[in-house]
Amino acid sequence: MSERRVPEVDRAAAARRAVERRRARASLKRDLTTRVVAPQIVAAQAFADAESVAGSMRITDFLLALPAIGVGKRDRILVELDISPVKRLGGLGVRQRVTLRHWLDERFPLQSPRSGRSRLLVLAGPTAVGKGTVAAHIRENHPDIHLSISATTRPPRPGEIDGVHYFFVDDAEFDRMIAEDALLEHAVVHNRSRYGTPRAPIDKALSEGKTVLLEIDLQGARQVRAAEPSATLIFLLPPSWDELVHRLVGRGTEDEEERARRLRTAKIELAAQSEFDYRIVNEDVATAAREVVELSEATAR
Ligand code: 5GP
Repeated sequence: MSERRVPEVDRAAAARRAVERRRARASLKRDLTTRVVAPQIVAAQAFADAESVAGSMRITDFLLALPAIGVGKRDRILVELDISPVKRLGGLGVRQRVTLRHWLDERFPLQSPRSGRSRLLVLAGPTAVGKGTVAAHIRENHPDIHLSISATTRPPRPGEIDGVHYFFVDDAEFDRMIAEDALLEHAVVHNRSRYGTPRAPIDKALSEGKTVLLEIDLQGARQVRAAEPSATLIFLLPPSWDELVHRLVGRGTEDEEERARRLRTAKIELAAQSEFDYRIVNEDVATAAREVVELSEATAR
């Protein structure tokens, strides 16, 4: 009788997969440490799928990757939460998941969604995360949702139409809009052009009972929160930092210097995700768009 052997090719493929998974776990740990991703999101991914990268991460590595947690503190936390250090995130029992989630919420508080929200939705997120694509998908598939058209001082790109993608205005016109209080919010984005949300079309759509979606940057989102505290703020996240870099390089619309600048801004923007009511990971556009629409239905008064 011949002995069964794992063929050489299978072993090589398995070794390659193991290396890839280790690399993916290392990247996820880095994202936790640099606050690119909230720990609650990683925990939720792990609990939803024990086989996922998050699910296969050791609880010891997960805790150690969190900001300001060293080995001593980590071990005390494990005792406090009654979790064995050999456990993986995806292998935690129901009670351990609940205690870990509570502990994370206390230690890394997220803006908790409030009740009584208006139909004003703000979609923000770092550069190249795909905000524009998700918004365009919603525009095409949900004509009932009013997508705000911003005013901007940047020149149109090929294919962009005035009054459809943006209202392309000059500096004098933009100044006039500010002076007349015609903008709900406005900001200089990427240190370059000015962008702003015209107030009148939004007020009109809201008064007609429509849901309004603004796709704007972080500064704008903060201004909307201050002006309209009942607005729902959604933060679109990349699946990982590496993926964000990949998307920015892949679209090839920025030169090296501009890319570096946008990535620096992205780091700062990602650190603000806890200010938002909801976080949606943009793995694929259709799913992310669906989640935004579902949120709009769930939160609307
Ligand atoms: P782009 O020039 O690539 O179309 O947009 C650049 C950035 O400007 C994006 O991050 C987009 O979210 C942001 N943006 C677009 N419209 C507005 C707006 O009305 N207000 C603010 N604050 N940001 C905007």
